[in-house]
Amino acid sequence: MKLIFEKSVPGRGCGLLPACDVEAVSLPAGLEREVPPALPEMSETDVSRHYTELCQHVHGVNCGFYPLGSCTMKYNPRIDEEMAALPGFTAVHPLAPADATIGCREVLDTAKRYLCEITGMDDMTFQPAAGAHGEFTGVLLIKQYHDARGDSKRRKIIVPDSAHGTNPATAAMCGYEVVNIASAPNGCVDLEALKAVLGDDTAGLMLTNPNTVGIFDDNILEITRLVHKAGGLCYYDGANLNAVMGVVRPGDMGFDCIHMNLHKTFATPHGGGGPGSGAVGCKAHLAPYLPKSALLDGGDGIQVRGFFGNFLVVVRALTYVMTLGREGVPEAARNAVLNANYLMAKIRGAFAPAFDRPCMHEFVLDLGQFKKETGVSALDVAKSLIDYGMHPPTMYFPLIVHEALMLEPTETESKETLDWAGEVFHKLADLAREDPEFMHNAPHNAQIGRPDEVRAARNPVLRYRKA
Ligand SMILES: *Cc1c(COP(=O)(O)O)cnc(C)c1O
Repeated sequence: MKLIFEKSVPGRGCGLLPACDVEAVSLPAGLEREVPPALPEMSETDVSRHYTELCQHVHGVNCGFYPLGSCTMKYNPRIDEEMAALPGFTAVHPLAPADATIGCREVLDTAKRYLCEITGMDDMTFQPAAGAHGEFTGVLLIKQYHDARGDSKRRKIIVPDSAHGTNPATAAMCGYEVVNIASAPNGCVDLEALKAVLGDDTAGLMLTNPNTVGIFDDNILEITRLVHKAGGLCYYDGANLNAVMGVVRPGDMGFDCIHMNLHKTFATPHGGGGPGSGAVGCKAHLAPYLPKSALLDGGDGIQVRGFFGNFLVVVRALTYVMTLGREGVPEAARNAVLNANYLMAKIRGAFAPAFDRPCMHEFVLDLGQFKKETGVSALDVAKSLIDYGMHPPTMYFPLIVHEALMLEPTETESKETLDWAGEVFHKLADLAREDPEFMHNAPHNAQIGRPDEVRAARNPVLRYRKA
């Protein structure tokens, strides 16, 4: 399809701006444009059609099933959007006098109280704008804690090999040496491997539980005890809290700090790079090191973003928690776990689970053997799903499973959808034996087939240059 710039016709437009009701001022010399900006000129009909066409080229949770593991692509209730669109929230300025923003501060305080209760933490910041940003903030809390005690030997952060790639990246960004430990054969932390690397140089451990293969680590209390005994702190990657919210609390598992992706678990649409929130909660001993806003709280301590962070994401999270309530939050988590186990059971006859035991909110398929038998890879299956109107699962992650497909159906899918998805996987398993060539070339009905992903990553063309 053509870009909006290519559809532009000089002189056409649809601007209906009200007459200016304030006195015009001219900008200081040198700041004014000499040439008007090259904006597309189009009628309202054509703009509307352009964006409608664009939105038909993407797949979202409102178009169909989206079992992208670790990403929690669940339905976001409309009421959360309605609350986030209230003018009292959208039209507020962060520097407005405190007595004019009492309602907004109450939203932040109440959200903090509820989310601290859900996670078992004592305090929280909403400054970080996404999960990785929250990790960075959380590890900086750990660093400040050790620094404040003059404990400068602690240079290492331990990360299991099943971790999300952002964990080692975060530790490195914070100036730490990353110590990778191999997982046990059941996908969980290998206690012996952990003991072998713990010492007086351990700053902390970063862990996801349930981990990225969808398994709750039964040894969690022993893991956090061992890290604390060595003088380290425990960081919980709670990007995806869907399996545990309202059921078990990271604080009770022994974690000192945590980030949550409010945009995954707590109802902000995501996936297009829009505003998110990596809220960071911590226990009381880390609270003094939470980020502050230089403008609002004075210049002391770290600051990772302006003012209060992405406030409207917090409005959605609070609405979500309040509408579900004390019964609904754990019920959502339990249904997420039930749906994942149901789908795993449906698919099991077609493709093998990497760890064949009950899972939490997601599970991983291992197509290694299947590929040997049929030549059809996890990538071929993922691409074939597109032809059925299903978003592919997360592929080739976690790295400890080689031909991995990671599915997270979420609690908002119906039994009918899960049954249908199970059938599609069975059809593809059959097709792989009958016509593998067809699957090597899938998708057959999508806007684009298989882009050259290496070239796209190495040589991204992100800027449109007008001819
Ligand atoms: C999504 C995710 C992250 C990163 O979150 P972003 O908001 O994309 O930065 C980190 N850890 C885990 C386990 C995740 O699923």
